[in-house]
This record gives sequence, structure tokens and C-alpha cells, in this order.
Amino acid sequence: MSLTADPAETAASTAFVEKRPLERYVAPDKPSLVGMSREALADALGTVGVPERQRRMRVQQIWHWLYVRGAQNFDAMTTLSKELRATLAQRFTLARPDIAAEQISVDGTRKWLIRLPGETHTAPHEVECVYIPDTDRGTLCVSSQVGCTLNCTFCHTGTQRLVRNLTAGEIVAQVVLARDRLGDWNDDRPTPAPADGERRRLVSNIVMMGMGEPLYNFEAVRDALNVVADGEGLSISKRRITLSTSGVVPNIARAGDEIGCMLAVSLHAVTDELRNTLVPLNRKYPLAELLDACRNYPGLSNARRITFEYVMLKGINDSLADAKALVRLIKGIPAKINLIPFNPWPGSQYECSDWSQIEKFSEIVFNAGYASPVRTPRGRDILAACGQLKSATEKLSARERLALRAMALTD
Ligand code: SAH
Ligand code: SF4
Repeated sequence: MSLTADPAETAASTAFVEKRPLERYVAPDKPSLVGMSREALADALGTVGVPERQRRMRVQQIWHWLYVRGAQNFDAMTTLSKELRATLAQRFTLARPDIAAEQISVDGTRKWLIRLPGETHTAPHEVECVYIPDTDRGTLCVSSQVGCTLNCTFCHTGTQRLVRNLTAGEIVAQVVLARDRLGDWNDDRPTPAPADGERRRLVSNIVMMGMGEPLYNFEAVRDALNVVADGEGLSISKRRITLSTSGVVPNIARAGDEIGCMLAVSLHAVTDELRNTLVPLNRKYPLAELLDACRNYPGLSNARRITFEYVMLKGINDSLADAKALVRLIKGIPAKINLIPFNPWPGSQYECSDWSQIEKFSEIVFNAGYASPVRTPRGRDILAACGQLKSATEKLSARERLALRAMALTD
């Protein structure tokens, strides 16, 4: 952990910003166990000579220290022998990814800029992770790639030059890091438990809506989410995990079968002609195929709806005819519709729809029987969508915070 600030001390400040210069980054020399799956841990134990018959039990013990207790050093792992702890410490670490900058707002919204090893020691990659607290939940917006290959015309991430997939461990580590910074581990809880029962987890929900297209990094995202949902570890239920995709059709069914999380689809347009421009992936997987994949999403029901995301672009996709077409298009699919005010970025070619237009649009959707939360109470709110914070490390404005909350989609 590179930051010295204690969360308790900084929680009351409006913003804590410290962007460290790139040249101070040193890539780790030993692998970290943090973020590993059970299988990877068993292999790691094999490399330090733990006999096969013991591995299952040792994995179980280390799993608990890593993902329930949030252990930061091997000495804390008191259920392991001193010898094993020393052996592990020689070959591995429990290091978290490096935090290059952290911002904390008075309402508890936090944003971390995370450095990850790049191709060379001097050129780390950066991704971001955002925590959005709400009255009944706390949502962590997690990144799956550095940059994105897909170039949606309204999205800043798509303009970034560097692209690489995150490893499963780097995805899980974002959750671990958030629990560290928020004091959200079992050991941080008061003992005995408060009279009103177990304290709720601060990080209760995950949205894969940070940088990158999660279904273009399928295996790593799947493996990571399976670690995050493990009931003996981080324990965030799959009903509280939402994966957002721009429409990688072949991997939608796989996401249902192999991950079983909630699905959000970045629709943004109701005709192929317009969607081809806004979300160029539509040329490969047009609307009819995308909606078929949604209809057939494994586990879909009224209790497990798909969220359709629709970014409101002034004069582009926000007419009332568009709203009616949207309702027709998704007919029969158990769905929610999330209208997202467009968040402009330097050089972007769009404007956010007028608030009055968003309201009219939302009313049509609502009257057709869909929940259509636009939880930003005023017009022209600026959305600090996950995926766009990397370039803007100034403090979050009140508007951004409201808009970020609108992104906290999961129930
Ligand atoms: N790649 C995935 C997930 C990350 S983006 C996807 O596209 O679904 C998360 C959401 O933010 C998507 O719905 C995306 O379309 C939306 N988004 C991207 N840029 C935006 C912007 N400038 N304003 C508002 N929403 C944006
Ligand atoms: Fe990539 Fe999603 Fe941005 Fe499109 S909206 S460029 S898929 S991150």
C-alpha cells in the first residue's frame, strides 16, 4: 500500500488527492497471493514443496486469511506453522496493487487510480476503481481492461492508446483493495457484534463497469468473479454482481452459464444504423442477434432482469420516437432501463440531452412498465462514468457523485 493516509482520518475531508509520479513506480519482484483462485493457490503451494495431500487444507486456511480477514502479512496467518509462513514469505507477498491516487469525498464516494505492471518497469498501466456508497448498499465499479479496443464514439476509455487485459488476480485485487481502504474486513468489525446484528458490508455490490469490455476478457473476468462470489471468502453474491457489456454476443450465454451474474447491456440506440456509429461492435453483432442473446440469457426471470443502459445524447438518440421504439424493441424481455446522462470529455463530439427531454423519455419508458431510474435530480448532470476518471483526477463534484450513484445499478 503506497498511501500513508488512514481512512478514518481522511474520511471527513472533501478530497484527498495525491498523484504520484510514474517514475516512482517499481513493479513487484515476487508474485502476490492476493487475487489468486483456489487452484492457483494450490499450485503456488506446490512450488514451495507443500505435499499434495496437505494442499487442500492449506488452501482453505490461506483462503480465509486472504479473503475473510484481509491479512496483509504472513505473520498474521496464525493457523499456519511458522516454517510455512517463512517459506511463503520468501517466495510470495500479500501485496495489493499500487494506488497512484485516491480521492475521498465527504459523502464517502471514493476513487482510486491503480497502477499495474506494464511491459517494462518504467511504464506501468493505470486503471481506476470507484466506490459509491448508498443507504442500503455500497457499489464498487471494477475495471476489466486497461483501455478498451472497442471505440464507442461517446466513450473516453475507447480513445486510450494502451490496452491490455487485466489478470483475474488484478480484478479480484480491486475488491481486496477497496475492503482495505474502507476498513471492511471481518477483523475491522467491532467485537462483539453490534446489538442490531451483523454490520452490513460496505462493499456489498460489484458492477463490471469500469474500464474495458469484460466479455473481451472473458476467462479472467469469469475466474475473478468466481473468487469474489465464493461464500467462504469475499462472499459477494452473484445477484449483487452486474456485468456490463457493449454486446459481445457469443459470450453473453457463457456469462450466464459460467458466471451466473446479473447482466447489463449497453444498448444506446434502437436502430442498427445509429448503433453502428455509437457502438461500432454492432456491425459484428447487430441488434437482432444481441436481443436474441438477451432473451435467452440463462437464469433470466422477473426477479433477475437485464438492465439496458441508454446514454442520453442530445439530438442523436433521445427523441420520443426513440423512447417508443426502445420499449417495442425489448418487449417480452424482463428488463430495467437505466438512462445515463452523457458525460462529456475533452474532444467529445456529443452533448448531454436536456433534462426536460430526459424526463419525457423516461416517462414513456416508465409508462410502458419499466423501472427507468435517472437518479440525477437536476438536468445536465455530469456523469463521471466509471471508465472516464483516469484523466480527471480532480475532486469529484456533487453532480458527479449523484451521477455516479445513478450507475449503482444492482438491487
Ligand atoms: N465496456 C462495457 C462496460 C464499461 S462502460 C460496456 O460498454 O458496457 C459502462 C457504461 O458507461 C456503459 O453503458 C457505457 O456505454 C457507459 N459510458 C461510456 N462512456 C460514457 C459517457 N461519456 N457518458 C455516459 N455513459 C458512458
Ligand atoms: Fe469500451 Fe464500453 Fe467504452 Fe465501448 S463503452 S469503448 S465497450 S468501455
